[in-house]
Amino acid sequence: MFRIGFHISISGGFSFAVERAFELGCTTMQIFSRNPRGWTVKPLNKDDIAEFKRLREVRDVNPVFVHTNYLINLASKRPDLYEKSIEQFIVDLERTEAIGAEYLVTHLGSASGQGGEWMIDRVSSALNMAMKLHKPKAMILLENTAGEKGNIGYRFDQMGAVIAGLNDNSPVGICYDTCHGFAAGYDIRTQKHVDALAASIDKEVGLDRVKLLHLNDCLRDFGSNVDRHWHIGKGKIGLEGFRALLNHPAFRDIPKVMETPKKEEDDDVMNMKIVKSLMKE
Ligand SMILES: [Zn+2]
Ligand SMILES: [Zn+2]
Repeated sequence: MFRIGFHISISGGFSFAVERAFELGCTTMQIFSRNPRGWTVKPLNKDDIAEFKRLREVRDVNPVFVHTNYLINLASKRPDLYEKSIEQFIVDLERTEAIGAEYLVTHLGSASGQGGEWMIDRVSSALNMAMKLHKPKAMILLENTAGEKGNIGYRFDQMGAVIAGLNDNSPVGICYDTCHGFAAGYDIRTQKHVDALAASIDKEVGLDRVKLLHLNDCLRDFGSNVDRHWHIGKGKIGLEGFRALLNHPAFRDIPKVMETPKKEEDDDVMNMKIVKSLMKE
């Protein structure tokens, strides 16, 4: 079955997110486990979590992906921020598991002025520390980035190297974001490009590690390294690229979550309609 959804707000409680997702026709979703731009964390409400779990069953929203807090930087040069990031990554992991979500999606981080190898080691060490302090039950997914200045994790060989540096045997997967990838130099505008993308993922990390696609068109040019998500088919990737990706045997059955702009009330409805129209039966 084809699983598709959006990043959904948890405002009001986790259980509200399930209803929002269901109303949009989602069969999967991504959420934050807390305010993504602050360090403070509210304790989880037991009744809300129970209702969240119950509604997920009823509405068949499955799997659920949690995205880590944006302040977390697992490659930070600053010792205090690095330590805080590991600690807060564990908080996100614990909350992911407490609500019964299956996956935790994280960016790798950034450290301007440092070499790629240094950052790769730094991220692997952060994940090793986190996984030692809290053995994961939810699966950690590393998300590719657009390659903005100082970022790491915009190429599959970098993601493969981070994974190779892990000591824990818990499975770690990847989340492929189409906007980030396009901005970082992975074209998907034609069938041939999508074939090449699949081959590249398979070579560097293994296709079996891909557990989620972030389906976003890109407002900026190919290879621009600028991360600006846009409506499906209306950006620089375009409809044909998404048609090729959505129907490709390597990607067809992988859950897909849109993180497209929500400026107008109907934006999500429009994007959902477009994606469904591109899928071949
Ligand atoms: Zn992300
Ligand atoms: Zn993303």
